[in-house]
Parts: sequence; C-alpha cells; structure tokens
Amino acid sequence: LGSYQFSTAAEASSRKGNPPRVPNLIGGSFIDSKSSTFIDVINPATQEIVSQLPLTTDEEFKAAVSAAKTAFPSWRNTPVTTRQRVMLKFQQLIRRDMDKLALNVTTEQGKTLKDAQGDVFRGLEVVEHACGMATLQMGEYVSNVSHGIDTYSIREPLGVCAGICPFNFPAMIPLWMFPVAVTCGNTFILKPSEKDPGAAVMLAELALEAGLPEGVLNIVHGTHDIVNAICDDDDIKAVSFVGSNVAGMHIYSRACAKGKRVQSNMGAKNHAIVMPDANVDATVNALVAAGFGAAGQRCMALSTVVFVGGSKPWESVLVERAGALKTSVGTDPDAELGPVISKQAKERIHKLIQSGAESGARLLLDGRNLVVPGYESGNFVGPTILSNVSASMECYKEEIFGPVLLFMEADSLEEAIDIVNRNKYGNGASIFTTSGVAARKFQTEIEAGQVGINVPIPVPLPFFSFTGNKASFAGDLNFYGKAGVNFYTQMKTVTQQWKDSAGGSRINMAMPTS
Ligand code: NAD
Repeated sequence: LGSYQFSTAAEASSRKGNPPRVPNLIGGSFIDSKSSTFIDVINPATQEIVSQLPLTTDEEFKAAVSAAKTAFPSWRNTPVTTRQRVMLKFQQLIRRDMDKLALNVTTEQGKTLKDAQGDVFRGLEVVEHACGMATLQMGEYVSNVSHGIDTYSIREPLGVCAGICPFNFPAMIPLWMFPVAVTCGNTFILKPSEKDPGAAVMLAELALEAGLPEGVLNIVHGTHDIVNAICDDDDIKAVSFVGSNVAGMHIYSRACAKGKRVQSNMGAKNHAIVMPDANVDATVNALVAAGFGAAGQRCMALSTVVFVGGSKPWESVLVERAGALKTSVGTDPDAELGPVISKQAKERIHKLIQSGAESGARLLLDGRNLVVPGYESGNFVGPTILSNVSASMECYKEEIFGPVLLFMEADSLEEAIDIVNRNKYGNGASIFTTSGVAARKFQTEIEAGQVGINVPIPVPLPFFSFTGNKASFAGDLNFYGKAGVNFYTQMKTVTQQWKDSAGGSRINMAMPTS
C-alpha cells in the first residue's frame, strides 16, 4: 500500500486506498482533496504508482492560507523557548523515523537507501540548528544613544511564508525551509515536489506530533497553478524556492512584483579543476563519488572536470572506477547509484550524451544501454563520461542533471579558472591540488558561491548558509544559517526615552541631534 506510515491515518480516508492519495494538510488536519485531477507519483525504479497527488483546489489553497494566517498571532507570541522545544522534539522524532523516511525517499525519488538517509540527515541538521533560535534571532541594543535615550532592534517574524520544493532532495529541502521559518515565529505553506511528496507529508506529521500547533504548517500540492497562486496571494509575505532556473526566475519575478521577499536557489554546472600535482587516488575517488552519486541529481553534483595539463593521464583510471559502480534499485544494499527521476529525464540525458558525441566529444564510458535485471522498466542511466568537451557544446551549456561527467582541458590554472568563470552558473566549484598557492588563487578568483579545496561537494552545514551565486541564486538572503534567519524575519528598531522630565522641556523645532 505504498510507502505512507501515518500514525493518525484515520484523518484522511484516501490514504488507505490503493494507490493511496496524498492528503493536504490544512489547519492541523490531513484532509482528502476534493480535486478532480490527480498526478501519479511513480517509483522510478519500477514504474509502479506509489500514490496519487491532487492538484489542490483554489478553495483548499485559500483555506490553507487562512489557517496559516489565523495561527500566526498566537504562534508569534508563543515564547521562543517553547518554539525551540518543538524543534527539539521534532529532531528526536526524525531520528526515530529515519528508516521510514529514507525508505519513502528511495521509493519515490530512487536514490539508494544510504543516500536517502543522508538526504534526511542533512535536513535534520537544520532542525538541530533551529533549536538555538533564541540566540540566532537576537537583536541589538545601544544604551544612551542620546541623553536618556536607548535604541534597540528586534527581529520579528513576517507572517505567512511559503516554500516550493524540487524533486531531488524530498526530505532535506523542505527541512531547509519550514523549521527555520516557524521557529522564527512565522506560519508556513509548503508545496512539495509533485514527483515525491511523501517525505514532506511524513515530516509534517512528525512536526505535529512534536507539538507544532494547528495551522502553523500547512501543505498544498500541485504544479504551475498552485505555484502562481502562492506568488500572487497577498497574505503570503515570503517565498522560498529551490529548483530549476525556468521555474525559479518566473517565481522570483512574479512574487517580487507582489512585494514579497523571495529566495530562489536554482540550477548549476559545478566544475572541478584538477591540477597535475593532485593526489591521484583521493581525487579520482572524489570525482567519481561527486559526479555519479545520487545519479548526478544533486544541485552540487560535479558535472564538469577541467584537467590542467590534459585529461589523458586521468582517463583510464576514472573510466575504470566509474565503470565499476553498481547502478541498481535503491533498495539493493550494494547499489551505488539508483535511477533518474523520470522517463523524460532519462530521454533528456540520452539526447545530451548523443549530442555531445555528435559534436566531437569522445564517449569514454556510455551508460545508456544499462539494464538492471528485474528492473528492466526502471529509468536507469549508468555512469557516462565524455572527454574533449568544449564550451559551445549543448551537453556543456545545459544542466544535464544525470550521471554524466564531462572532461575539459586547460594549459594553466588561469585558463581553467577562466573556463569556470565564463559559465553562467555559480553554485559550486572545487580544486584538487597539493599546492596552497594554487588553492588560494582559486579561492580568490573563482566565481562560485561554494568553493571546495580538495572537497568535491562543499555544501555548508547549517551554521553557515547555502551561498550559490550568479544564475544559481536570485534574492539577497540565502537559505539557512544567519542569512536564513534574516530572510524569515524583519527588523524593528525602537528608540526609547526614559528620563526625569519633572522640569518640563521646551519645544525644539530642529532635527533632533545628540
Ligand atoms: P523544477 O523547477 O522543475 O521544479 C521545482 C518546483 O517548481 C516544483 O515544485 C514544481 O512543481 C515547480 N515548477 C516547475 N516548473 C514550474 C513553472 N514553470 N512554473 C511554476 N512552478 C513550476 O525543478 P526539479 O526538476 O524538481 O529540480 C531539479 C532542479 O533543481 C535542478 O535544476 C537543480 O539544480 C535544482 N536544485 C537546486 C538546488 C540549489 O540549492 N541550488 C538544490 C536542489 C535542486
């Protein structure tokens, strides 16, 4: 019966169906949608229908926003220590249900169980961080800015905030959003990816079990229409988005035009520069893990390697190690990469590989014909490597988002940095070298928001922020860390005067100065 394991399953009757229907969460209750249109949530390894997701109706969407708006006054006035305690309990419940959550992620998204645990864990760390919100949200105070006058600033919640999620991290990315938002005192509307909504719904149920009051977190489902409704709704004050550039820029401009705050994390083409002095074994392992892990469907996956001095010396060992990876269903304990998300994604990846080969790249390893016994209809693509890639090729210009590694060459570090900097994206970039001088030059000159030095996927932990730049990010305040708290709060600056005014005071018509 699919992968839902709800402790309060009685609330939404359709969850027991076969396939179960994914409920909305409105005002603290999981409710069957009255929608007449449903989308199949498909297991990418088997094509089985895991569940059916409604296109939440306009009426239901309005009810969710109204529930969030109603819950806001009392939630914002709930002591921050109480809000933190809900998160403390929430992190404990996520740990308790880690295996169930990971199994749901594997079933709906396809990644291996171990990788799915990582998906949950990296989100759990944001919840842990939100447990310290009282300190993170602290304002500032200056005493006696003028005679008897003090000024202090307070960080206050915004009201109703919303989050729109991609398919590739069904647990981590919802957890980048609502735990920070609600612990700051906001209420929230979450729109999970229509491809794998299960983990978000399970997490919401845990948040309710942890004591999150009704209406503080709500879930609605759908695609373009519900996203546009979120952008347009005057009661929603801020929108967090993670996903592709097409959707992200649309949401950024539409929601900004309505006066909302928006943070939009978008696509990537993450490069590694490999210097001739790099440690061979460690570098090869890092490139293979970061290029093919999660079937290349991480926004921080390495997709392009620029070899300074040429790729030849590196090719055979990389082909050998990548070729030895086991591509299989995510529940296979030996699987190292699972399927890609959909048939359409697989076709797109095939086309980009083909266009690379036709435009002059050398296909060193071709994963297109891979068949996983017992899972012949799965969306599997094996590790693929194209070398001699140039910047004008379609496979380089497009984000492939699959297990495909492109090799390019440069004669010098300067030339390699120039290649990376010309790319429109600026999510992550790494260098592999034993030279501190080269590493420091790279760190200074590279135009990417997250820089790795002998680290292939430099995703910051939640006490920092996720700092993509160039076309990989739109907005001013990044996800999680201090920037995340700033995103979900606004400043109020208070100037107070308490002085003994027994003697009265004269009218002063000039601009006050101290
Ligand atoms: P996507 O843009 O197709 O979907 C993301 C969300 O936007 C979904 O909820 C979807 O329903 C909605 N959506 C899609 N198209 C829309 C449109 N035209 N109008 C309104 N809403 C729309 O992204 P995806 O395929 O789910 O995720 C993969 C993408 O996300 C990749 O580009 C990847 O690099 C990016 N990503 C970025 C980060 C980051 O932090 N920079 C993290 C994860 C994923």
